[in-house]
Amino acid sequence: MACDLHCELVDGDLSPSSDTAAHAYVYRHLPGVGGVVHTHSTYASAWAARAEPIPCALTAMADEFGGPIPLGPFSRIGDDSIGRGIVDTLTSHRSRAVIMQNHGVFSIGRDAKAAVKAAVMCEDVARSTHIARQLGLVVPLPHDDVDALFNRYQNVYGQTGARVKQIWFLTGSQGLYGEDTLKQVIEQSQAIAEELGRAVPAEIVWKPVLTDSDGIHRAIHMRAGENVCVRRDADALRCTDDSRPGGARPSFPVGERLSLA
Ligand SMILES: [Zn+2]
Repeated sequence: MACDLHCELVDGDLSPSSDTAAHAYVYRHLPGVGGVVHTHSTYASAWAARAEPIPCALTAMADEFGGPIPLGPFSRIGDDSIGRGIVDTLTSHRSRAVIMQNHGVFSIGRDAKAAVKAAVMCEDVARSTHIARQLGLVVPLPHDDVDALFNRYQNVYGQTGARVKQIWFLTGSQGLYGEDTLKQVIEQSQAIAEELGRAVPAEIVWKPVLTDSDGIHRAIHMRAGENVCVRRDADALRCTDDSRPGGARPSFPVGERLSLA
């Protein structure tokens, strides 16, 4: 069966999984995410049972997650609260996996394969670090080493020429001019992205139009894991956000109009 981002059945006749609301919430609120994976894998779940984030004490973990794998709040199944816990926790971390307290792992990625990889890597480091904990003290890596390892792995590591050069085409528009204007912005930005794709030697990936600063910030945060330059922009955006008078933000709900695209 298949359902839309608001858990409405669009294909098949079976009932959606009880986790659907959590996954849908993540897709609606993290525009860069194209895959969400949930597991109750043994070692990661052991950390969830202890309500502990996994400390970053291995280079492979710094490479992949850029820091500890954070702990998200406990939430009961049934409404948006698990999804909200995932988004709130991952928005402030580079990690693409989160240990949800007393529950298990949720991981995200730009596509399903990347999200599966994050879930598998999460279980792997959960196991190593758990075993280390049984043997004695776990020694976390210093922050600057974690940063250096993460940047090298995400930007330099790998076979030269083997990486696909991909450029995300993000457009921002305020909602206050109404649905029709937004629809025009979507059409025009798709046309520009298409033209650009013919002009540059890289894959241009058009992304749904972002309608508030939170959405822009989250999209850039998602991409920041793979590009140092973008991270600088994200920091600049964060500053812009914080300097808004009274912290006021556009009220147009992020993700709600994504279905237009
Ligand atoms: Zn579960």
